[in-house]
Amino acid sequence: MPYATDYHVHTFRCGHAGGASRDYVRTAIAKGLDEIAFTDHVPLYFMEGDDPLPEFAMAKDELDGYVAEVLALREEFRGDIDVLLGLECDYVEGREPELRSLLSPYPWDVLLGSVHWVAGAWIDAPGSARRHEVEGSRAIFSEYYRLLSLAAASGMFDVLTHFDLPKKFGHRRPFECAGDEAAAVEAARESGIAVELSSAGLRKPIGEPYPAPPLLRALVLAEIPLVLSSDAHAPQEVAWGRAAILETAAAAGAVEHVSFSRRKRTRHPL
Ligand code: ZN
Ligand code: FE
Ligand code: FE
Ligand code: ZN
Repeated sequence: MPYATDYHVHTFRCGHAGGASRDYVRTAIAKGLDEIAFTDHVPLYFMEGDDPLPEFAMAKDELDGYVAEVLALREEFRGDIDVLLGLECDYVEGREPELRSLLSPYPWDVLLGSVHWVAGAWIDAPGSARRHEVEGSRAIFSEYYRLLSLAAASGMFDVLTHFDLPKKFGHRRPFECAGDEAAAVEAARESGIAVELSSAGLRKPIGEPYPAPPLLRALVLAEIPLVLSSDAHAPQEVAWGRAAILETAAAAGAVEHVSFSRRKRTRHPL
């Protein structure tokens, strides 16, 4: 049996996911996973106040409790599955020192770097699709890939998430932004960061994994390591679409994926 992982799952704390964290672990075991990494959304360190947007991320004062819960689940399920301590971190240009100091007290296994905040607003929230009409897909993709390249180069993260996220609501990357996308692939390659292959896009209007097959092919050719993920926001979404993304990976020529422990990487055949 190939080594099976899910490197992107949320908890109720973010305000838009549900279920008991223990049930995410139970689902992972039932689906035959060897590892599950909890990667809830980082508290919104770049906004004022303890809980600036309760439906987007946990409050700042919930982070200790999140870490304690994940570490307790690791002990509870030791021997059945490896439960990893991770976090999905919003990358925000110029706010790196605040993120570094927020992260520094905890024993992370894996840190995901995500760009959801582009030009002063979310690109993937309910209502964000309109931005493609108002600002234009070209401006959104171009700025998004500029920020994603900076996130890769920052050295703060182990994995870049949903590489082509602006497509979420069905807007394909404009031809004119091919160079911006290629620059982000090159930034990822140079930094040594891994990239997730996520089934989440299959549940969204775009109806295809992140990254799209041709982009995945470019990442594989650049020898960028892959992790497999569901971006589950409910227990039943753990390892969701796993067969489909394994097929996508094989079609792109990928032959391995990686896992992390205390931010050190291990390679596994796919
Ligand atoms: Zn979320
Ligand atoms: Fe995300
Ligand atoms: Fe996520
Ligand atoms: Zn996500």
